[in-house]
Amino acid sequence: MENFKTIIEPFKIKMVEPIKVTSREDRKLFLEQAHYNPFLLDSDKVMIDFLTDSGTSAMSSEQWAGIMKGDESYAGASSWYNMRDAIFDLTGHEFILPTHQGRAAERILYGYLGGKNKTFISNTHFDTTRANIEFSGAEAIDIVIEEGKNTRDFYPFKGNIDLTKLETLIQEKGAENIGGVILTVTNNSGGGQPVSMENAKGVAAICKKYNVNYFLDCCRVAENSYFIKHREKGYENKTYKEIAQEMFSLVDGAIMSAKKDALVNMGGFLSLKNKEIADACKNLLIITEGFATYGGLSGRDMEAIAIGLREVFDADYLHYRIRSTAFLGERLREIGIPLMWPIGGHAVYIDAKELYPQIPVNEYPGQALVCELYLKGGIRTVEIGSVMFGKYDDNGMLIPAPMELVRLAIPRRVYTQSHIEYVIEVFEKIITDRNNVKGLTIIEEPKFLRHFTSKFSRK
Ligand SMILES: *Cc1c(COP(=O)(O)O)cnc(C)c1O
Repeated sequence: MENFKTIIEPFKIKMVEPIKVTSREDRKLFLEQAHYNPFLLDSDKVMIDFLTDSGTSAMSSEQWAGIMKGDESYAGASSWYNMRDAIFDLTGHEFILPTHQGRAAERILYGYLGGKNKTFISNTHFDTTRANIEFSGAEAIDIVIEEGKNTRDFYPFKGNIDLTKLETLIQEKGAENIGGVILTVTNNSGGGQPVSMENAKGVAAICKKYNVNYFLDCCRVAENSYFIKHREKGYENKTYKEIAQEMFSLVDGAIMSAKKDALVNMGGFLSLKNKEIADACKNLLIITEGFATYGGLSGRDMEAIAIGLREVFDADYLHYRIRSTAFLGERLREIGIPLMWPIGGHAVYIDAKELYPQIPVNEYPGQALVCELYLKGGIRTVEIGSVMFGKYDDNGMLIPAPMELVRLAIPRRVYTQSHIEYVIEVFEKIITDRNNVKGLTIIEEPKFLRHFTSKFSRK
């Protein structure tokens, strides 16, 4: 396929799910009813749903066939052995625990290793990771490299961890107080940017030197392997799976939300090399998730995960996945939409502050763009800016987030090229109309995670 500009979806469609086509008038009403917060919209009022890539993948005919074969036995189900074998094949880790999703694995592992006076260090902790660590009483410190904080210039591995800072931090805190070093691939909260193998090896060397636990948050490890193969010297001739296997060989354990690169709608796992930690986690698993051969999962879910973990490393799939996300980003950049560069694996991030300079941060330019995308095109996205991360000072003044971004997360195998062309067309209208857009005020908000339920009014 290399000699063609057009990358085809490497699948054909066997079953369809209708999209309800709405008019601008409909959407104006729906958005008012949802108080200008698309999290409060019913999904049947959305035409293109870019809210998240988590749990939104389309399963293959093989996976659906696996669903029918799911073994629902309480203990020792064949579907569990299929899932365990697929994970072992990939990670080589001896102890594998199934969980109902990623955060359950996080709660178990970080709950066990965390607690007061413990520190976890990561390139960037994902929100649920940080929440589970802090809930245990421990602290979570992010040390992504400086290049990773620059949103404009190309750098091949913006997800890398700062190795100098890592070693200094371990020395400062004392190795015995480090709960673990967590490498997130790709770096979700840092724009889906990849981590190089060289960096992963550098972390391994430091963790070994100080005898510190090293974990991989591997939700998007296949997407990360794509970037390594195409950007890192020495990996050109390795398969994506071999690259992932090498990365797993470096760490003491891994946590995965199967809702990403296992191409399923629900599931997760925890894998470990150390028996003592694994035994403790297994006890917690049985108390809170389920017996050790199903975690919180149905047999059919485990069957689908086993198949998805193999499918995701298919070279045609990964090429399509990464290139189609980049295609959207590249085209938007060409028509003048300011965005984070380069494009990461699973999403395109628009810089709303730059798109709407007339809207002050306390009127939420990101939320304004989220609303415009819905009004103009029925596209649902999420604000990652001051609605999500803003705080108030003692006088009730907004302390804004460092950036006002809008994320377009692309579900796996769900939308076709014409859906993407449509999104680009909607953005052309966004550009034409950019000077007429006004901000929003928050009229009702919860104490925590306010992006989910806040209500807004338009200026
Ligand atoms: C999604 C995600 C998680 C949490 O997984 P859930 O399945 O949503 O509980 C953890 N880490 C990263 C990097 C993620 O993207």
